[in-house]
Amino acid sequence: MADERCLFCDIVAGRLPATLVHEDDEVLAFRDIAPRAPVHVLVIPRRHLVSVMDFGEDDAPLLSRMFAAIREVARREGVADTGFRVVSNAGRNGGQTVGHLHFHVLGGRFMTWPPG
Ligand code: 5GP
Ligand code: ZN
Repeated sequence: MADERCLFCDIVAGRLPATLVHEDDEVLAFRDIAPRAPVHVLVIPRRHLVSVMDFGEDDAPLLSRMFAAIREVARREGVADTGFRVVSNAGRNGGQTVGHLHFHVLGGRFMTWPPG
């Protein structure tokens, strides 16, 4: 269910502008407003889920769609061959700042490990 005070639900609803990279009936992908790498795209479900903790048994098709979108973004952004990183921060210690599930797709430079 849409959360009225959720930034990413606002993007889904078209109330807040975003630079879309990919969209389908279940998933949106758009550029991060404060990119941490030359390629930094956020892949989100249209449906409001808070984090990966909200994935249920019935959400396997959604998860599959999200990863299809991630592969599509990686190809479209030219990082499929050079490599990229997929990250989903969850909760306070995970560093999550927006409470609507999202996968960061980061690439275009060497990604150091481990993350801070
Ligand atoms: P988190 O910190 O929750 O893992 O990731 C949230 C991400 O959303 C951050 O990288 C932040 O830059 C991005 N972000 C926050 N507000 C907006 C916005 O209004 N538009 C877009 N495109 N990205 C946003
Ligand atoms: Zn939301």
